[in-house]
Amino acid sequence: MEEKKQAKKIEKKNEKEKIDNEKEPKGKPAEAKKEVKTTEAVKDSCDDIKCPFHGKLKIRGRKFQGIVTKKFPKRIVIEFERTVFFRKYERYYKKKTRIHARLPDCLKNEINVGDYVQVQECRPLSKLIHHVVIKKIKSQNKGEKL
Ligand SMILES: [Zn+2]
Repeated sequence: MEEKKQAKKIEKKNEKEKIDNEKEPKGKPAEAKKEVKTTEAVKDSCDDIKCPFHGKLKIRGRKFQGIVTKKFPKRIVIEFERTVFFRKYERYYKKKTRIHARLPDCLKNEINVGDYVQVQECRPLSKLIHHVVIKKIKSQNKGEKL
């Protein structure tokens, strides 16, 4: 009897391990790989201190994607639509959000007005800016992917 019990225990342990192994790989490693890709995509080095790849600026928090509507020497404005629930009429309506994001020197030539880019939150760099451009997803004309 004791041998059977032990065998059952071992089976249970194995099952638990299997479940654990199945659970873990789904979520986290894929995100980690993506982050590595974004850092690899930017090849040129730059002297910008507030660059997330070559400088000391840490990126954290939320990511947003949008179309560039304005470009300034070290800043861009992106715009994207979101749906908001209107309670009185029980319907959704579209609202536009504008975000001012810092443009690092190494992405300066790459990004132009009309491009589709991704920004991520960072520490507040000024009154308006608390996001940084991390990559370009599509360019305006050709729709080429990076
Ligand atoms: Zn850089």
